[in-house]
Amino acid sequence: MRIADFNHFLLELSHLTDSQIQLVENILTDKNSIQGIISGIEQRLVDKPECPHCHSRVINRHGKSGAMQRYRCKNCLRTFNASTGTPLAHLRLKDRWLSYIGTMIQGKVLRDSASDCGINLKTAFLWRHRLLTLPALMKPKSLEGIVEVDETFFAYSEKGNKALTGRKPKKRGVESKRAGLSVADRVPVLTARDRAHHTFEAILPATTTKQIKQELSSKIEKDSVLCSDGFKSYIRFARDNDLIYKRLNSAAGIRVIEKVFHIQNVNAYHSRLKSWMEHFHGVATKYLDHYLGWFRYLDTSENPNKNELLQFQQQLTGT
Ligand SMILES: [Zn+2]
Repeated sequence: MRIADFNHFLLELSHLTDSQIQLVENILTDKNSIQGIISGIEQRLVDKPECPHCHSRVINRHGKSGAMQRYRCKNCLRTFNASTGTPLAHLRLKDRWLSYIGTMIQGKVLRDSASDCGINLKTAFLWRHRLLTLPALMKPKSLEGIVEVDETFFAYSEKGNKALTGRKPKKRGVESKRAGLSVADRVPVLTARDRAHHTFEAILPATTTKQIKQELSSKIEKDSVLCSDGFKSYIRFARDNDLIYKRLNSAAGIRVIEKVFHIQNVNAYHSRLKSWMEHFHGVATKYLDHYLGWFRYLDTSENPNKNELLQFQQQLTGT
């Protein structure tokens, strides 16, 4: 894991709500207590080597699995670790949570994450979506100053659903931005980003004035300046919310107004988001919010508070 990414992740831990902190603490506490339990049960196997399957005393070390030593029995040839056959066997999975978070932050695909952490695909899938709910809940309360707004689109996908219901498979190569779009093949994601890099995103049922007002009305502070392309819904939204409006029109060569008003930050954000999403070869629409949240915190550019970071790292490493 890149240290900068890890630091960003830790920083975000300090911005969670109480219930989110409780969840993360449960994970971290489990990690620490499990390390103690693992050491304890591994020592028993060192003191008294015995195959849990056939009770032979002749066993060899056989690599590591997660944090635990694996063994292979010379008699029955089956592999095991110190927790095999005990009620604690399932705990070795929890021990892999943290290394799993690492593979997520690296942007690894499910199959690679699973194989890195020695877990099966189904477990990797469940963990990914349990962990992804955390950043998806992190959205800025408000945006202010110069606020850039634009939308981007993702292909509708029922990936992971056993039965495809009611929708035709997506067509490839549909690239027009708004014309003729329906939620049936493209999912609009509204993005507003201010110059402090606070980023708000919402998945819209459709790019209508009503939907845009509903999402943004309570999010943008009065007296802010809204920058967007000339899409009429943004113009109406700005008018109805007493925002100063700057219309960029790249087709007509108007990319920057008065040197500071442009939508290049939000466009660059979309571009980074899109290229990061390509790692996953299409994500299920029902989980799109999770992926957006994950990227939002990976992309954050704030400097981590060093003291808080140190505390979290100490908790993680048990030092
Ligand atoms: Zn055996």
